Amino acid sequence: MVVIDPGHNPGNFRHTSEINEKVDVGTHRKECDTTGTAAASGYTEAAFTLDVSHRLRALLRERGATVVLTHDADRPFGPCIDERARIGNEARADAAVSVHADGSAAGHRGHHVILPALVKAGSADTAPIVGPSRTLGERIAAEFARATGSSPANYLGGGTGLDVRKDLGGLNLSTVPKVFVECGNMRDPDDAASLEDPAWRQKAARGIADGITTYLLG
Ligand SMILES: [Zn+2]
Repeated sequence: MVVIDPGHNPGNFRHTSEINEKVDVGTHRKECDTTGTAAASGYTEAAFTLDVSHRLRALLRERGATVVLTHDADRPFGPCIDERARIGNEARADAAVSVHADGSAAGHRGHHVILPALVKAGSADTAPIVGPSRTLGERIAAEFARATGSSPANYLGGGTGLDVRKDLGGLNLSTVPKVFVECGNMRDPDDAASLEDPAWRQKAARGIADGITTYLLG
């Protein structure tokens, strides 16, 4: 059982007051969701994450996995980040992957995978998932690079393609192995050209699927 979480929602841009409502992420209260970024062309991160998530779901189903999406743009906005985590938890997912693209400065290029830090605060306790999430993230980063030819991010993670964060509710509140995949930087023209190319998105989905598969087969 794999839960795929398409980052943001195309409708978030029209529901800014709702998505700005704060939710409890254990360490602090944080906005329900955000609009996400966009390329200079106007191609949005939310459209990108849905497309890659659909491709990823198809690949995993072909391989026999049961797949649940946290949303399919079938609701006007959200879900909130706490609900995104809860969907994976209640499904008792073997792996949960949140699909994103970054909104960093031009010149910042490449992909990275965000791993949960050790967080114990309020309703958040990542101790049981830090280890398996790192393994999941390492597998995805390696297979993503192989499938796309993309380099690890040149602006964080020291060239490893891995970053560890304690401020993301979707990771803090997860009780199942979970990572975020930042497939590239939408604000960099060269990365954006890849992110906007359907053939590249298919490679990205295959890389993520290969990483998940490798992780699940142990
Ligand atoms: Zn995002």
